[in-house]
Amino acid sequence: MAELFHSPFRQRVVRAAEAVLQRNGSVGPLDVFQEMRLLPPSHFQNWCKGLEGFKVLLPRIQAGPAKIQQTIDFFKAWATEKGLVPVEAAHTRLGVHGVETLQVTEHGDPAWEAFYRTHYAPRDLPAKKVARLVAKLQKPPDLVVFEKVGDAGKCSECQTELLPGDFLLLEKGQPLCLTCADLDQLVFLPAGNTALSRRSRQHSSLAAVVVRFSRARNHYERQGLLVTEAGLAKAEALCELDAPTRTIARERAARARTAADHQFVTELTRAIVQQYPGCPIAEAGHIAEHTGRRNSGRVGRSAAGRALDASALELAVVAHIRHVHTNYDELLMGGTARLDARALVRGHIHRVLAEWSGM
Ligand SMILES: [Zn+2]
Repeated sequence: MAELFHSPFRQRVVRAAEAVLQRNGSVGPLDVFQEMRLLPPSHFQNWCKGLEGFKVLLPRIQAGPAKIQQTIDFFKAWATEKGLVPVEAAHTRLGVHGVETLQVTEHGDPAWEAFYRTHYAPRDLPAKKVARLVAKLQKPPDLVVFEKVGDAGKCSECQTELLPGDFLLLEKGQPLCLTCADLDQLVFLPAGNTALSRRSRQHSSLAAVVVRFSRARNHYERQGLLVTEAGLAKAEALCELDAPTRTIARERAARARTAADHQFVTELTRAIVQQYPGCPIAEAGHIAEHTGRRNSGRVGRSAAGRALDASALELAVVAHIRHVHTNYDELLMGGTARLDARALVRGHIHRVLAEWSGM
């Protein structure tokens, strides 16, 4: 058992569970499978949307029964060990006829379905947060309308031809035009204005998310919302009212980001000089700024922490040496293959690195 406890696979399960818990505030088995890349998120989303061929989810997990069971065992043991408490989620989708329950396992065994619905959250969560979490986990996902791409098709009810660009709803895998789906009174609001979108949906008694399949990216992309005319009008009025306030808030956030970026670059420069005392201060500043730019906008504590870690610092410094202190770029421009070019300059990089490390 001790061996099993330290097995790389257990560590993989635990790492995935911890990551989801930190990100979402709760974690369920299906999150873990996705985080571990055993369940492609696109398959999970197709299942949530009730697409044809995605009636049950379990066969989509890319692992054998033994591995699935092992993952579950490690996950449960981890949740117990951490003292997490179960919170039941709902696996539902919103169809034209209301809320439909989604099925995970092939035979719909109630105990297993309940297991897959169970999320785990920290025990010491304040009541208010628990309430919010339960509301989030129980809420059926949005009603989804698809923008037609590719092949022609017909509405399964009225047989109207559906052309590319038309909106349709899938009902048990069959396309329905918006008229048959009773959604034709809604108006389309393209994505882009976050406040307007959020408020329109909030004030619409009926709303749907519009997605379009991107072949290039192989997933569905959000195009906008279908909302009621009244909801949109109300949202527009509200946005007009507090537009100046929102501009001020946006500017304040941008200023805070700039300040955080600046502080990050300073800290990074200091860390580089500490690890590489031989590195000229100007170059350390240059490396830090370059890394900071890459991190810009996401200089959260974890991103900054990761960038300040010794091996991340070394990667940044090595990249800098490669481009500035060797003829690597020239080799690339001259047609040398990337891996060959890297091999050619490796010795030189190590010499500079050793020199900067003060070795
Ligand atoms: Zn129709």
